[in-house]
Amino acid sequence: ARAELMKMEKMEIVSQLAASISHEIRNPLTVVKGFIQLLQTGPLPRETEERYIRIALEELERAEAIIRDYLTFAKPAPKETEPIDVAIQLQKVLQMIAPMAHMHSVSLSSSLDHGIVIGNVQYFQQCFLNLFKNSIEAMPNGGTLRVTAEHRGTAVVITVSDNGVGMTKEQVRRFGEPYFSTKEKGTGLGAMVAVKIIEQMGGTWNIESAVQKGTTLTITLPASRVKPPTAERSVAG
Ligand code: ADP
Ligand code: MG
Repeated sequence: ARAELMKMEKMEIVSQLAASISHEIRNPLTVVKGFIQLLQTGPLPRETEERYIRIALEELERAEAIIRDYLTFAKPAPKETEPIDVAIQLQKVLQMIAPMAHMHSVSLSSSLDHGIVIGNVQYFQQCFLNLFKNSIEAMPNGGTLRVTAEHRGTAVVITVSDNGVGMTKEQVRRFGEPYFSTKEKGTGLGAMVAVKIIEQMGGTWNIESAVQKGTTLTITLPASRVKPPTAERSVAG
């Protein structure tokens, strides 16, 4: 019964995320619709038209950014939860952001134990994609993104560190708050999604940050003793 209850709580958070994305996307789409309707009303001065088109494009970009923060890994029929090998999945996300890191002169460094946690693998990847992206964006002049995973007793401890711009106390306090962003085109949703996913997995998180020095996020997740099923062994392939 306890397991059932936990499963229901998890599903609730998953559907909360799904509900919030449709809510988040609706605003920019409403703005785009409004400006296109204005363009439709009749001849407008060329500059006005250009301005409306620019606003509509910016809002579409915002909608895209929101979808990236929530649904980069979304599949039509996601498995609810499964054993996740953190080393394998973190490596996958690191590979995925390698081009972005390269563009920002950020080098990647990792030391990853094969710890197993229970969660939804897509959400796990989304969580760390959002955190890695924030670290890279915090190092406009290059630096190192370091990721470690360590099995410590009944927990798997993951750290994400950068030597970027860092955060003030106030910024640390507001980390994970919806719409809190210091970036010109930020959504302020990436950290909120990451934090929700960590909490959904029964995990905790802690930030240590110093302005102009960098930030280290420590994420502690309950370790599972279940071995992950090897994908190759699945039936009906
Ligand atoms: P966004 O990246 O769209 O601004 P997020 O929710 O991902 O929104 O992050 C919220 C804010 O938290 C960022 O705008 C930034 O100020 C701060 N932040 C998050 N991660 C870091 C980091 N690694 N270094 C410095 N600041 C960070
Ligand atoms: Mg972000």
